[in-house]
Amino acid sequence: MFVGIDDTDSPNGMCTTFICKMIMDELPPSCHIIDFPRLIRLNPNIPYKTRGNGALSFEVAGDPNIVVQKAKEIIKRYVVMHPNTNPGIVILEDDVPIILNEFYEHALHDHVAIEEAHSLAKELGARSLIYGNGRGLIGALASIGAVLPDFTYELIAYRLPENIGKKRAIDKESVKKLDRKYYPLIFDSYDWHNDYLAIAPNAPCPVLYGLRGNDWRMLQKASEMIISEPVFKSQIFLTNQATDAHIKDMPLGQLEEYMSVHSRAKVSGEPHYEHKGHVFFTIEDDTGEMICAAYEPTKEFRNIVSQLIPGDEIEVWGGVKATDYGMTLNLEKIKIVDLVPIYANIVPLCCGRKMNSVGREKGYRCKQCGIRIDQSDVSKRKVERASKLGLYEVPVIARRHLAKPISRI
Ligand code: ATP
Repeated sequence: MFVGIDDTDSPNGMCTTFICKMIMDELPPSCHIIDFPRLIRLNPNIPYKTRGNGALSFEVAGDPNIVVQKAKEIIKRYVVMHPNTNPGIVILEDDVPIILNEFYEHALHDHVAIEEAHSLAKELGARSLIYGNGRGLIGALASIGAVLPDFTYELIAYRLPENIGKKRAIDKESVKKLDRKYYPLIFDSYDWHNDYLAIAPNAPCPVLYGLRGNDWRMLQKASEMIISEPVFKSQIFLTNQATDAHIKDMPLGQLEEYMSVHSRAKVSGEPHYEHKGHVFFTIEDDTGEMICAAYEPTKEFRNIVSQLIPGDEIEVWGGVKATDYGMTLNLEKIKIVDLVPIYANIVPLCCGRKMNSVGREKGYRCKQCGIRIDQSDVSKRKVERASKLGLYEVPVIARRHLAKPISRI
């Protein structure tokens, strides 16, 4: 049978991965867990998420009544209800049908209504436990339905109960050492440019750290390098993180709110900084136009996009969101494919000195003898662009769970 769980956390604490781990660990020996549990990230643009829109699932052989009882008990013991906490648990005793795989795709790319999840659970004959408005059922079902053509692993270490809520004690130097040794096979651990420890969450949840990588054995070995406060429990999860699973190729004219897309376009409007340090510019293709945003938290990535000029050809990856600035594509990566050449005038000489400009693109005049040269007769030289062709991504500090790091491409 498959067990799906979601929405057991709130901004004040808890974490659905921990609830999943506790249910698994406290099942009696008559229940056998099959393979790794799965941490499945869903649409990163929907507004209900607490942090990374993660949903959990695992496969287990045993008595479904025991699993349901244990799930209820763990929810009661650990989940602190909050207006935005709407736990959902699904127990599916049959094989995963295609319709559930399709539901995962739907929850990954679109906005899903709670009723859709309810009627699907009913149609599948799955048992469900719902609390609050039952929204958690969406993620619980989608996690079971996830198909992972590409996947990675995350090893999550949990804190001792008495330490939860206190400042996390993790030796940064040990993580830097780990990153030097294992990057890029273990990724998004430390942001060197921004001196940011990316393995530790900022929320007061039971997670001490999460190590992300391509190979679970390597994660286990590498975790031994981390010097930290005591680890209560740890668990390896199979995930769709760092795979770009959320991205669909899409022309600009078809972009809609909540989508995450990859599009090829031309820069159509000059990038400019807004007062909060966000950078905005517009792009266009044959089908439409779109505002692109590189927000302040994307740090040095803003330097790359701010040097683009109208006419440059780029590929963009990002999420479509309705914001105060209008419908924007929040950039995760860009590829600079072609740069428009820019030219500067070679200032002509006369009477042994440089001539004076008459005005922008209006030609030159010699102060000495009064001779004029029309702009059309002025020679030009090609100016080297600050931008360079290539693929660029937001730094680790701003990375979305689903975004595929360039190091994995
Ligand atoms: P964390 O990453 O800390 O576990 P979270 O960011 O996963 O937190 P949740 O508390 O799980 O956030 O809230 C996300 C809610 O949105 C869940 O109820 C989930 O079922 C629901 N949800 C997930 N995907 C969609 C979607 N595509 N459309 C509508 N609701 C969704």
